[in-house]
Amino acid sequence: MTESTDPAAGAPETARCGFVALLGAPNAGKSTLANALTGAKVSIVSPKVQTTRTRVLGITTVDRTQVILVDTPGIFQPRRRLDRAMVSAAWQGAADADIVALLVDAAKAEERTDKDTVRIIEGLKKNNRDAILLLNKIDLLKRERLLAVADRLNSEGNFSKIFMISALNGSGIGDFLDFCAAQLPPGPHLFPADQLSDMPDRLLAAEITREKLYLNLHQELPYALTVETETWEERRDGSVKIEQTIYVQRDSQKSIVLGKGGQQVKRIGASAREELEALFDRRVHLFLFVKVRDKWQDDPARYRDWGLDFSA
Ligand code: GDP
Ligand code: MG
Repeated sequence: MTESTDPAAGAPETARCGFVALLGAPNAGKSTLANALTGAKVSIVSPKVQTTRTRVLGITTVDRTQVILVDTPGIFQPRRRLDRAMVSAAWQGAADADIVALLVDAAKAEERTDKDTVRIIEGLKKNNRDAILLLNKIDLLKRERLLAVADRLNSEGNFSKIFMISALNGSGIGDFLDFCAAQLPPGPHLFPADQLSDMPDRLLAAEITREKLYLNLHQELPYALTVETETWEERRDGSVKIEQTIYVQRDSQKSIVLGKGGQQVKRIGASAREELEALFDRRVHLFLFVKVRDKWQDDPARYRDWGLDFSA
């Protein structure tokens, strides 16, 4: 096949490539959509807000177009330093993108638009950014309700196009992807065809453990912790030994993460290991350590690994 990267060529086989930023309030379903469109786990998902802490790329190809999805942390009113860095990373993702898609949880927006979404709509207007509206979680709402919600959002924002989707069951997501692929500019592909994400394995491994912590721990605790991969040791038998530290802010949190007789962390480690083995397609020996470091959220080193701006 001939490959042309000349923007003027316009031939059907011209390679195209670009970035599609997924913006939205916490829990709108951005990471679920990034995973569904790439057909892989590129970003962790949980029912808790603020699961995604940094920009994560999910890469997929439609015909000759490489679509680079930019999953972003939810946008909300920031209170702590980490919040500010996350929200700033999300807006940066939008600024750098060819297409911005705003995800809205249709069920949550049934009565009125939530204040985080209102804030994002205002931000997009201020920056003169066109956006596509993705009304997500349509599996939770009746069709007639959906149209009313879409109408209202359309009057509140500046949307060039609306898609009704369910990131969870996949309905409508193919149409959205095809639309993006057709809109992206001609240009050479930025990633090899088999690459699904830009996340280094060490960070991805830490993210998987963090997801299991989010899924297994209650209430506010997940926000108080972070996970780091300390060692990654390739073994001769093809397996890998991974040691990770779970940082918490207080002794009481450490006891909760450990659980009675260490049962909780053991369970979390087992489920993380199982997923890591599937993900990396090899045996994994995972060792988790829990440490108290009350000020980890004020430590620049924690931000560097995620590529977050410490001073945002
Ligand atoms: P994010 O914070 O925007 O990245 O949201 P996540 O992708 O982490 O999803 C938040 C929660 O919403 C998770 O429990 C998902 O399973 C759920 N979710 C995401 N998309 C859908 C959807 O289309 N339908 C339903 N019913 N749930 C969804
Ligand atoms: Mg997310």
